[in-house]
Amino acid sequence: MGKPLRVLIVEDSEDDVMLLLRELRRGGYDPAYERMDTPEAMSAALARQTWDVIISDYVMPRFSGMDALKLLQKSGFDLPFIIVSGKIGEDIAVEAMKAGAHDYITKGNLARLIPAIERELCDVQVRRERGRKEAELKQTLNALARSNAELERFVHLASRDLQQPLHVVSDNLQLIERRFKGCDKDADEFIASAIDGIARMQKRINDLLAYSRMATRKEPVDCSVILNRALANLEVVIRKSGAVVTSVPLPTVVADELQLVQLFHNLVDNAIKFRGDKPPRVHINAEQKENEWVFSICDNGIGIDPQYHDRIFLISERVHGKEPGAGMSLAICKKIVERHGGRIWVESQPGKGSTFYFTLPPGEQS
Ligand code: ADP
Repeated sequence: MGKPLRVLIVEDSEDDVMLLLRELRRGGYDPAYERMDTPEAMSAALARQTWDVIISDYVMPRFSGMDALKLLQKSGFDLPFIIVSGKIGEDIAVEAMKAGAHDYITKGNLARLIPAIERELCDVQVRRERGRKEAELKQTLNALARSNAELERFVHLASRDLQQPLHVVSDNLQLIERRFKGCDKDADEFIASAIDGIARMQKRINDLLAYSRMATRKEPVDCSVILNRALANLEVVIRKSGAVVTSVPLPTVVADELQLVQLFHNLVDNAIKFRGDKPPRVHINAEQKENEWVFSICDNGIGIDPQYHDRIFLISERVHGKEPGAGMSLAICKKIVERHGGRIWVESQPGKGSTFYFTLPPGEQS
């Protein structure tokens, strides 16, 4: 008993079918076949059952090998399609292969049929396995994206809900401080430390909210305006540190306005926060490359050891001791930049300042 093989034969000659079947049996197969020579019959056969291979003649009175191939491709089935025909020119055979036929065999050389079928059955199995794995991967990625979105939503709602009770605690602590300050030295210290703790918790929650912000509304925004808004928010920090912040004229990009303000805010804030002995100097630059704008924020601060250059963009990675903050500013920057299809990185050496770079897609050309 030979190996079962379901063969769809597109052929007008019964005699040629007999020759094909003989060859298949000689090759160790037990073919279950159907012969047809019209597009309607082929469509019906494809719809009716599963096939292992299609063997097709090239020229028939009511159908052709090339039309049969097109019909198979339109059906979406991935099946070996082998043309077995009388002599046709080499260029026609090449055309057929280019169009997607898997092999072309002349009727006078049927010895090539079995090796061709075996090779194509193997190949189709590999293709199907690859397709199955790709579909699985896509499913996993979709599930991951869904659970990520759910997690972000949870973080967003949880941090928003935490804000309100925290406000209440903070307001009450301040009332207590105002009313009882000076009554007891220890109590003054406890209250001051509680107020400080609450302020840090508020900053953490705001960072979490910023990190989990879900909506991104992209529109053309002038980055010079954005930078000025970030600098206005940092006015006290800039004044107290004596920082000098300079910038070249910045371009217009398509981005979420609020998120960009936050991006510049965090990077300039860090450039000032991690200052060295010298008065802080921060320079913002933007250069147009092929398909993107490359922004840079360069400071003369304490710098960062190259071993930390990647890690500082992760949540809660701090390099320089116990600075205020939750180790989230750069994680937020990375998320904002990546949401806009860009990249962010740093170039820095300890003691030699840092330059943070990020890219953004260009805005409308003016
Ligand atoms: P943090 O809340 O600690 O500021 P960030 O995410 O802003 O968290 O930064 C992570 C770490 O990267 C900082 O703790 C600091 O060590 C380093 N860092 C960030 N920006 C700079 C900078 N401009 N110069 C030197 N170090 C920096």
